[in-house]
Amino acid sequence: MSKPEATRENLRKSLLDWYDRNGRNLPWRVRCGRADPYRVWLSEVMLQQTTAAAVGPYFEKFLGRWPHVGALAGAPREAVLGAWAGLGYYSRARNLHAAAQVLASEGFPRDEAGWRKLPGVGAYTAAAIAAIAFDQPANVVDGNVERVIARLRATETPLPGAKAELRARAAELATAHRPGDWAQALMDLGATVCTPKAPRCPLCPWRRACAAFATGAPESYPRRAAKLARPERFGVAFRAEHDGAIWLVRRPDKGLLGGMAGLPTTEWRAGTWSRAEALKHAPARAKWKRIGAVRHVFTHFALTLDVYAAEAEPCGEGWWGDASALPTVFKKAAEMACSIQPSLTQEPP
Ligand code: SF4
Repeated sequence: MSKPEATRENLRKSLLDWYDRNGRNLPWRVRCGRADPYRVWLSEVMLQQTTAAAVGPYFEKFLGRWPHVGALAGAPREAVLGAWAGLGYYSRARNLHAAAQVLASEGFPRDEAGWRKLPGVGAYTAAAIAAIAFDQPANVVDGNVERVIARLRATETPLPGAKAELRARAAELATAHRPGDWAQALMDLGATVCTPKAPRCPLCPWRRACAAFATGAPESYPRRAAKLARPERFGVAFRAEHDGAIWLVRRPDKGLLGGMAGLPTTEWRAGTWSRAEALKHAPARAKWKRIGAVRHVFTHFALTLDVYAAEAEPCGEGWWGDASALPTVFKKAAEMACSIQPSLTQEPP
């Protein structure tokens, strides 16, 4: 065996040994063998852009309500979107429901190429499912793995330009021996030891080989290109109330929070809204009071929503409900403490 290959083999062995002792116990995880592909697929879709801690309760809720893919495929889409409320990135829920229809009728693919054909399954998710559920060799590289590899090799190319290079570096280490455990071991190292801030290098099985550790400033990797400022957008949400219920509408399928329930709103634009402008979009004529504002940061912009409330009886498409199945930004607006009694509420200028 050549020296570089012997070094790689040492890295593989030390990480898998570490994983056997320190891997996370996650509800969807099975060690040293094949896991249930339904659980792996469901968890990997939920874990896109979301931490394992946030996913845990949603995963349990989904499994409780829809214990197999046939049950999920047969559920009304609105029920799936409602159960997803609060987890964010709502196109995932729409795609999950669409993919369930395919999986229920055609069965689970075994390889990456088969998973890539499903809605909501990109390169990373397909590789992760093939490795974890079917123990297929795969190069599973997400943001956590990029960070670990960038530090191990002290890669100077900044992200996002370094992605291809880091992927190639990760492929050099990927192994056909226990590929599912390998993928999860790398994820766990990134999530619990090689963390974005203050990595816990003394606990790391790779510290002797790690080039970033040797520099004395491992957290300065991966290098990153300067970020552009996140644009600001502004809108107005209307909280129409009647007998303790609030008026909800279904958002259009296309666009942000597509298909989810929400409060009626104006469009979200670069400029702020005057009261007169905003009230042209109110769902009913009423004594609207501005009760405050909520702020929510999406991936591509930050949103400030002024919230107006009133006793009102809108008509048109919508229904009376509560905040329980709303996405976070609307939940904040729906639950904002206020009184809409004129004597207790300050009318804005
Ligand atoms: Fe990350 Fe530190 Fe381990 Fe290097 S030694 S891989 S920086 S935790």
